[in-house]
Amino acid sequence: MKMPKEIEAHCPFCKKHTTHTVERVRRGQARSMTRIARQKARANGTGNQGKFSKVPGGDKPTKRVNLRYRCSLCKKAHNRKGIRLGKFELVEG
Ligand SMILES: [Zn+2]
Repeated sequence: MKMPKEIEAHCPFCKKHTTHTVERVRRGQARSMTRIARQKARANGTGNQGKFSKVPGGDKPTKRVNLRYRCSLCKKAHNRKGIRLGKFELVEG
């Protein structure tokens, strides 16, 4: 899918339609000591490891693309729910 870099959208802060610049949200850093990470650390060793015994299913054919819309008037940004796409690019105009 091709997405224009600038779109007219509703700004929840200005409460009206303004020009928004579209930017892609990059993936954040993985945290090391989450609840699931501690569980996994406890499970390693011998015997049945429950859900950690499962073979990973592999990658999905599409990835969710998250976008951030920044208002040109107040410079504040808001998000919309991401869409699943195989291919994504931002185009001029
Ligand atoms: Zn605004």
